[in-house]
Amino acid sequence: MINMSKVKTRMPEQDPQVRVGNFDEVATGYTEEMAVKEALRCLKCREHPCMTKGCPISNRIPDFIEKITECEFEEAYQILNETTSLPAVCGRVCPQYLQCEGKCVRGEKGRPVAIGALERFVADWHRHHADGVSAEAAESNGVKAAVIGSGPAGLACAGELAKKGYTVTVFDKNVLPGGVLSYGIPNFRLPGEILQNELDSLKALGVIFENGKELGKDFTIESLKSEGFKSVFIGNGAGNSIRLEIPGQELSGVLAASAFLFDVNLSNKYPSAEKIAVIGGGNVAMDACRAAVRVPGAKKVYVVYRRSAAEMPADPAEVHEAEAEGVEFIYLTGTVEVIGAEGKVTGLKCQKMALTEPDASGRRKPVPVPDSEFVLDVDCIIEAIGSGSDNECADGVDTSEKGYIIVDTDTFATSCEGVFAGGDTVTGPKTVIAAMGAGRKAAASMIEYMEK
Ligand code: SF4
Ligand code: SF4
Repeated sequence: MINMSKVKTRMPEQDPQVRVGNFDEVATGYTEEMAVKEALRCLKCREHPCMTKGCPISNRIPDFIEKITECEFEEAYQILNETTSLPAVCGRVCPQYLQCEGKCVRGEKGRPVAIGALERFVADWHRHHADGVSAEAAESNGVKAAVIGSGPAGLACAGELAKKGYTVTVFDKNVLPGGVLSYGIPNFRLPGEILQNELDSLKALGVIFENGKELGKDFTIESLKSEGFKSVFIGNGAGNSIRLEIPGQELSGVLAASAFLFDVNLSNKYPSAEKIAVIGGGNVAMDACRAAVRVPGAKKVYVVYRRSAAEMPADPAEVHEAEAEGVEFIYLTGTVEVIGAEGKVTGLKCQKMALTEPDASGRRKPVPVPDSEFVLDVDCIIEAIGSGSDNECADGVDTSEKGYIIVDTDTFATSCEGVFAGGDTVTGPKTVIAAMGAGRKAAASMIEYMEK
């Protein structure tokens, strides 16, 4: 029996008025009844484009959804476990509207099946009902592999290698594992305990985590090789924040979004601010503005974006959530100068922008409108305009002009023998799931290399 409703089964969430006062998860998850109702919307399409064209890690979407309709939730989990080490994470943070759900046939005449919400439900059901751990450790083959970076690419790679019996050590310069999942995504979107559970599952597979160890400082690729690591994966992300490059950016109160989110997520450390402007229009800007409205003492939060709402790259659902939480969006506005007094931010000089006709690439360029400057009254500015690579420590590994690691696009092999790379460190900032897909594919190449 197919549920022919054109709308998704709504996931319950905290009321916006309540949730701005806490960092608890906003969406509270499907009940079993809701999950079955939503799963019954799946048409079990023969071509299943959701999986073949939409999911970078090829989760068996119609199969796991079918198990939900039969109330076989653990079996649904085991199907997901074949292809993903982080289903509870993906179900929460994947941009499904661009991926699996963006390709769902049900989306052609209504809303797509809520694949992400169902994946999340299955992972959460497993956590609450099974032993909480995904899989037993595979029998060791005695071969050591190293993973540098414990973000999504590194974790996916480590999980694949460990499932095949490799002894995997994951090195990360930060004190906690998880990379951007741990310090970049706020608790209200991805609670720390969810990530911890996924990390525990990897530990149960035998993955060893060595935190506070930095490439180029505490070890090198050569030193790893001399310690017997037969292959190395580099997945250390693209964490170098791009700055605004406007006068006054050195004033106290101007923060990089990554530093702001790191402090909020890992140390409950908040800026002392009442009026906060977040600059940028991507998903990091959405995480930053939604975290900013939760900063104790914050009374007003703006997002300043130089193009219009239509060009904004952020997930529309996140924009909607931010608006519901009281964030004010100021579109078609560029930044000119940070105004300050006694070394601290007191305002942001802005300028209205207009968009040109689309260029050859179809992109409309923002250009300043003459005599349109104004000052936004803020005492804190968070820059969320992008990030780049910090790969200068990857000795012997060729990088592009922008510092990204150059790899063979089929095998993920770098110019250095036995060293592979994937995720943002290769592509520049992309999605969590794109990084996971790269980590997974690189692991397959590493296995081929190590079995030679
Ligand atoms: Fe969709 Fe992401 Fe899950 Fe793939 S991993 S099915 S893209 S939510
Ligand atoms: Fe089900 Fe949509 Fe995938 Fe078809 S495309 S199998 S309806 S989830």
